[in-house]
Amino acid sequence: MISIKSDYEIELMKKAGEIVGDTHKYLIPYIKPGITTKKLNDLAHNYILKRGATPSFLNLYGYPGSICVSINEEVVHGIPSNRKLKEGDIVTLDIGACYKGYHGDSAWTYPVGTISEAKKKLLKDTENSLYEGLSVIKEGTRIGDIGYAIEQYAKKHHLGVVKELVGHGVGKKVHEEPDVPNYGKPNTGPLLKAGMVIAVEPMLNMGTPDVYLLEDDWTVITADLKPAAHYEHTVLVTKEGYTILTKR
Ligand code: MG
Ligand code: MG
Repeated sequence: MISIKSDYEIELMKKAGEIVGDTHKYLIPYIKPGITTKKLNDLAHNYILKRGATPSFLNLYGYPGSICVSINEEVVHGIPSNRKLKEGDIVTLDIGACYKGYHGDSAWTYPVGTISEAKKKLLKDTENSLYEGLSVIKEGTRIGDIGYAIEQYAKKHHLGVVKELVGHGVGKKVHEEPDVPNYGKPNTGPLLKAGMVIAVEPMLNMGTPDVYLLEDDWTVITADLKPAAHYEHTVLVTKEGYTILTKR
């Protein structure tokens, strides 16, 4: 069942989303060559606690980090470590926070120093694909319409759409019904209603859409080792459209 949030729940989810957005903003100045992914993780962890929330991903299904930090060909779920960011890398920070029992979830891919034109284009196109997907959201839209919009945009820009990982409902759990795939057919799938909260999160690859799971059982990488980008917002469905809860 897809939950419809009460006004009270929506207020808490707005606060959770705000904390997630602010954590991104807080980390941006630290995204520089030489910083370890563990340091970014610890900064995020402490900041989220300071804001009266807890990191959603820590121990979720046994995940060992507080946030996910994925570099270049890593699509999602990169585990924070002593690996240092390098000039020219791209890095995705996927951040979740739980405030008074409700979650917010947002991923964003950032450049480390100066990056190649090809990487710049990947970031811009993937960010745009998120807004393409969001643009169709309102009461009465179906989940397939969102995926269709993202997929069409990705195709036009010759990017691979990762099929194995999808967006999701958000609420008392980080991952709730429904699945929100980044591909689909118009007018198919669950119907959106005002008060639903979903995370839309296109993961687009510069090359093949195929991905592999590394031996750590977490990190997902592109099969051809070309870079991947990932942009995600948690949004509230309204009668007329949507409200982004994880704005920065
Ligand atoms: Mg996320
Ligand atoms: Mg998510």
